[in-house]
Amino acid sequence: MTQLRFCPALSPQFRRSCDRLKVADCISDTRRGTPAYYPHALLSHYHWRRTPVPPAWREDGFIFGDSGGYSIRTKGAVIDPVEALQWQAATCTVGCVVDVPTRDQYDDPCWDRALRQTAAHTRAALTSYQSLANGGDAFRWWGVLHGQFGGQVAQWWNTIASIYPFSEQGEGWAFRPEPTITHVTVAHTLGLIRRHRVRRAHFFAATSPKVVATLAVLAEDAGLEFVSFDSASAGIAAANRIMMLRASDGLSWTQLKERSQRGDTHADRWRVREYLWERCSCVSCAELRAASAGIKAVGDGLWACRLFLHNLLVQVRTFNDYAAEAVSNGHALLRTILGRRDYYMVTMAVAHDA
Ligand SMILES: [Zn+2]
Repeated sequence: MTQLRFCPALSPQFRRSCDRLKVADCISDTRRGTPAYYPHALLSHYHWRRTPVPPAWREDGFIFGDSGGYSIRTKGAVIDPVEALQWQAATCTVGCVVDVPTRDQYDDPCWDRALRQTAAHTRAALTSYQSLANGGDAFRWWGVLHGQFGGQVAQWWNTIASIYPFSEQGEGWAFRPEPTITHVTVAHTLGLIRRHRVRRAHFFAATSPKVVATLAVLAEDAGLEFVSFDSASAGIAAANRIMMLRASDGLSWTQLKERSQRGDTHADRWRVREYLWERCSCVSCAELRAASAGIKAVGDGLWACRLFLHNLLVQVRTFNDYAAEAVSNGHALLRTILGRRDYYMVTMAVAHDA
């Protein structure tokens, strides 16, 4: 059975505010040995390069080191591929090459440049990686694949895999299905994974339950031993004062906003806070009740940290349920989540994509 690994994307800023407000998140040392400990994460080199990362993270869990390729697009960042590799090898379980996204910060396409520069980054850091691996370092370097299905994906794959195939023990490929990540583009990517006999894969920004259910159930058919995926949505939702609530069928979650589009509505705000305070039985909400004198005494920053941890626990529980269900009853689960038509489409894409 394919091992499924959710890697919440963590930012140093959010962790610092949790520390300041004395909220231990799932990866904190103080949670070791408790059911709320979740030592897996995605860390981006660009954001974490100046923040020390506790060695326990890599010892206990799976830490995916993003190169910061996305920051090249959004912030116009310049990243040295060898420096990124050295940071990843010192901090992470696996990490991917510094990829240049196929659209620039103005959302204009830059396909040729993206592929040319990603290939140059791969060549530039390859010798450093090979000396680490030959020296017995446990770190493994992964390739990254971009492109729209058809000619682009094939061109990218052929170019990067001919520099280095990322197919040794523990190596793999990370995927950013384009134009966006959906259950359909994920299924086509799984078809490509099957054809190229990739054994370990990561999917970037796999936020939706439909995408994760597709991975949980169909990664096995694609021949994957291991598949990880990341999402920043627990933190983004918390920053926007959105609470994730397990759906009554347990297959997904719904969202409840503290503020409506039209501004601050007290009704919504108090619904979220009262739920966290009075009804939620998760570890985060239980700690909130134990540590605070009353609902009105909790400041906005603390609510945001608590919402983050609450949301994260909702996601971890939902994805664990998918993984368990995939073993016994996966195709029925996927049919329920996607509906009959999309279920048929994704299973065909994995089996026949060429
Ligand atoms: Zn809760």
